[in-house]
Amino acid sequence: MGESALKLTGGDDFLKEVSLLSGQKIGLCFQCQKCSSGCPVAQWADLHPSQLLRTVQFGLRDQALASSFIWLCSGCETCGARCPNGIRTAAVVDALKEMADGGAERNMRLFHRAFLDSVRRYGRIHELGMLTRYKLQSGSLFQDLDLGRHMFVKGKLKVMPHRIKGTGAVRDIFRRVQAKKHS
Ligand code: SF4
Ligand code: SF4
Repeated sequence: MGESALKLTGGDDFLKEVSLLSGQKIGLCFQCQKCSSGCPVAQWADLHPSQLLRTVQFGLRDQALASSFIWLCSGCETCGARCPNGIRTAAVVDALKEMADGGAERNMRLFHRAFLDSVRRYGRIHELGMLTRYKLQSGSLFQDLDLGRHMFVKGKLKVMPHRIKGTGAVRDIFRRVQAKKHS
């Protein structure tokens, strides 16, 4: 289906929004299914990659943002390598994660946010800081305490974060993504 034909579906605004944020020409997807047939997590989710792109093309915002698939995608990029139109579904998934809010997958979103915030601050993950933020926000502070204690004793959870040298460059990437999101 061409991009002009999609205007007839009424889903043009959502399609434009996701296309802009992801940097992908989602309207070019003609449902050949090559992404879905190579996706390692498609069988575990409610939607396949190609079906997710179809929901975006048709402007089915609620269905796309509520899909469990966006939280299961591993970002392996097999879909992008197989797509004859060069569409990276992983980038579309990242955009949808940013747009998703609340719902049944709220905790996954909170974890995703805590993960990205740690990368933005230090250029890498500071596990203790990330987990503390996630647990405070999700209201599960005392869950997994035994596991946390074992990890701490074994030196897997460092008290102080370790910053990489290029944190400025990493923050710049986050700034550019935010600017793109609000443009
Ligand atoms: S990046 Fe995500 S959608 Fe693409 S093949 Fe990998 S798991 Fe599937
Ligand atoms: S491989 Fe590309 S064109 Fe084919 S269904 Fe997937 S995203 Fe669409």
